[in-house]
Amino acid sequence: MIKLEPAKCPSCGANLEVNKELSETICQYCGTTVLIQDAIQKYKIEISGKIEIDGVATENSQLIRANQFFSVGKYDDANKLYKNILKIAPTNAEAWWGIYMCENAIANYYGYRNNLGDTSKEIKANILENLLNNYAYKAIEYANDELKEKYKNNIIETEEYIQKVRTGFFNKKTLKELLFKKKK
Ligand SMILES: [Zn+2]
Repeated sequence: MIKLEPAKCPSCGANLEVNKELSETICQYCGTTVLIQDAIQKYKIEISGKIEIDGVATENSQLIRANQFFSVGKYDDANKLYKNILKIAPTNAEAWWGIYMCENAIANYYGYRNNLGDTSKEIKANILENLLNNYAYKAIEYANDELKEKYKNNIIETEEYIQKVRTGFFNKKTLKELLFKKKK
């Protein structure tokens, strides 16, 4: 039995089914003599292009869904989706930021407790610092200029809080230096 392969006419773009055993065939749509390998190759390129486009669509649609979950307070669901996005797009700044916001909201919900169930200003500062390092700074690293500014402004208060707890006072110059260092 002849095994037919999907292919595409390089001349007119019609979908063909070709016999791989042959070297050429005539396109039934445009009458051009087509090299079998060229036609199969053209089909494969088109398919891989489609997969890329689908990948992007999935990334965007997941981001929209994740943001929707976040906006109605479904932080666990949103968090899972943001983490899924990073599997296909590890430098998606919005997904990194989304995880930061979710984990922060969840930690806040539980009163910033450590795994022993204890809570204090120091524990809260540690938790916040971990969230900044693990997620927020990643988002800032990958963000475009506009988002970078937005994210940096958003975390200033958290930075201030951590620094106040650590030092007992807050020094604006130190914070600026800290942010500058983290930005690089
Ligand atoms: Zn053709």
